[in-house]
Amino acid sequence: MENRRKGPGGVTFLMLIVILFGVLWFTNQMEQQEKQLTYKEFYDIVENQQADTIVVVQNRDIPTGRVEITRKGDESGEEGILVVSDVNDICDYLKEQQAEYRLVDVPAESWLMTTIFPVIVMLAGVLLLFYLMNRQNGSGSKAMNFGKSRAKLHTGERKVTFANVAGLQEEKEELEEIVDFLKAPKKYIQVGARIPKGVLLVGPPGTGKTLLAKAVAGEAGVPFFTISGSDFVEMFVGVGASRVRDLFEDAKKNAPCIIFIDEIDAVARRRGTGMGGGHDEREQTLNQLLVEMDGFGVNEGIIVMSATNRVDILDPAILRPGRFDRKVAVGRPDVQGREEILRVHAKGKPLGDDVDLKQIAQTTAGFTGADLENLLNEAAILAAKENRVYIRQSDIRHAFVKVGIGAEKKSKVISEKEKRITAYHEAGHAILFHVLPDVGPVYSVSIIPTGMGAAGYTMPLPEQDEMFNTRGKMLQDITVALGGRIAEELVFGDITTGASQDIKQATGIARSMVTKFGMSEKLGLINYDNDSDEVFIGRDLVHAQRGYGEEVAGAIDQEIKRIIDECYQRAKRIICKYDKVLAECAQLLLEKEKITREEFEALFDGLEISEIVDNAETV
Ligand code: ADP
Ligand code: MG
Ligand code: ZN
Repeated sequence: MENRRKGPGGVTFLMLIVILFGVLWFTNQMEQQEKQLTYKEFYDIVENQQADTIVVVQNRDIPTGRVEITRKGDESGEEGILVVSDVNDICDYLKEQQAEYRLVDVPAESWLMTTIFPVIVMLAGVLLLFYLMNRQNGSGSKAMNFGKSRAKLHTGERKVTFANVAGLQEEKEELEEIVDFLKAPKKYIQVGARIPKGVLLVGPPGTGKTLLAKAVAGEAGVPFFTISGSDFVEMFVGVGASRVRDLFEDAKKNAPCIIFIDEIDAVARRRGTGMGGGHDEREQTLNQLLVEMDGFGVNEGIIVMSATNRVDILDPAILRPGRFDRKVAVGRPDVQGREEILRVHAKGKPLGDDVDLKQIAQTTAGFTGADLENLLNEAAILAAKENRVYIRQSDIRHAFVKVGIGAEKKSKVISEKEKRITAYHEAGHAILFHVLPDVGPVYSVSIIPTGMGAAGYTMPLPEQDEMFNTRGKMLQDITVALGGRIAEELVFGDITTGASQDIKQATGIARSMVTKFGMSEKLGLINYDNDSDEVFIGRDLVHAQRGYGEEVAGAIDQEIKRIIDECYQRAKRIICKYDKVLAECAQLLLEKEKITREEFEALFDGLEISEIVDNAETV
């Protein structure tokens, strides 16, 4: 950063100064020792015979010209200039006055100077502008490569492979087949397999998405074009689109290869939500990207990978089949993953005997790979400060305080107590998912902080697209949402604020059951919910007016409360019934932070799961 300032920055500054001085000098030359005269002053000089030399400068093509006059006895050599509208008139006048004068043509080179010089100055200015803008874009030296893709091609440099990526076992497995395809595409084409065109890596910052993408290219040994989403977004409309085109052209020449678009949310943000409406630059770029992705055939050997930490703001069009149809969630590492990452980054950093990476992994819940790398780096710096050539546990402890405090906002260092509460909370959700018939199964349960406010999560298997939801399922969804809070209540006798999102979700479902889907007998088959999808008003900015009175509003609220209360009772009954599983599950979570479906379901071994049909089902 500092260097760049001094380097080209200095040159630019010098160029500017030179040009400035050039312009000043030139205008000075022009104006120097000249004085515009009025006709009266001119006549005075001539008629009083003060004129020393009079030169009439004419241009044969046009009648206008000028008279240059110097006075007798004026040592300064100052010339008086009179611009005249008709040279002949002034010549007649001078003859009449019997003044001596010379008639000359406009000097040719002067015209050259006056026309060429400004052009040169302007050209210099334009070039300078290009140079400056190009430099700002941080790209090479060519001045005119605006529309060119700025993707950097990586082929032979230091290879990143899966060995450099610690943890992330499932993620690596998912990407394995892409590596295999890039290595031996024929194998797949022969059996008519269709390989995904696009893979979207989703996860919080610092979890190793970029690293993973590089590793895929490294493993496959194919060219790797990397570009960041923000590179597409330029101030000139159309530039981004043309860069996309260019990028894909390059890629086609180099197939099989990987195009990696980092931070894709910069281009692929949901369209049509802006107030301006219409086509803005980003929209054009995104359209071009979609066109290109649709344009190349299946199995052409190009795989587009991209990374984002904001799937929620991505345009849904990008996730359609034939585009980024494979989504890989890159999560924060669990205890074991953290230990592995620490081991990877401890290479090249001599550790003292007392360093216990396992213990560090246990105390860093919620840390991402980047955080852990940072932690070890800080520790190394502390060691170096004390002129030691190895890192001690105390260095890491001190670094932990430093990093922990710095990173507090994104990954809070959580206490044992919080962890325990979270473990029971998530176990509560998980049990209900498992026991209730229409929801679940549980894919994984985790108490690794998500960094977005949630202390953990319980993930059911990705849902199939169902045409419609049933009332039974919606009730069960509400029941599951309440499970976390109930577990907290039962175990700790106290409740936390951690369940606010759950409560919001439960209320939301119950409300739409009553107001949208006519699922409450009391209120009948009436839609009380006039929620029009006004794209242009930027969502939620304007709320539609309520189309019913106070009484109905009260009845709706009562119904919502009744539904939630019934679900609450049901959830409580189930969790109490499986309280042994609750305790075991929480214990396992505290140990491993993340448990898989198999591990979770094993807890129910030997227990019969009776579907509980009770009055909650018969609202
Ligand atoms: P993201 O793209 O998800 O924001 P990066 O891939 O840029 O994260 O990761 C930043 C750095 O953190 C990497 O360069 C690497 O040093 C470290 N890192 C992150 N995850 C891992 C991991 N799983 N194994 C090893 N190092 C990791
Ligand atoms: Mg990244
Ligand atoms: Zn919850």
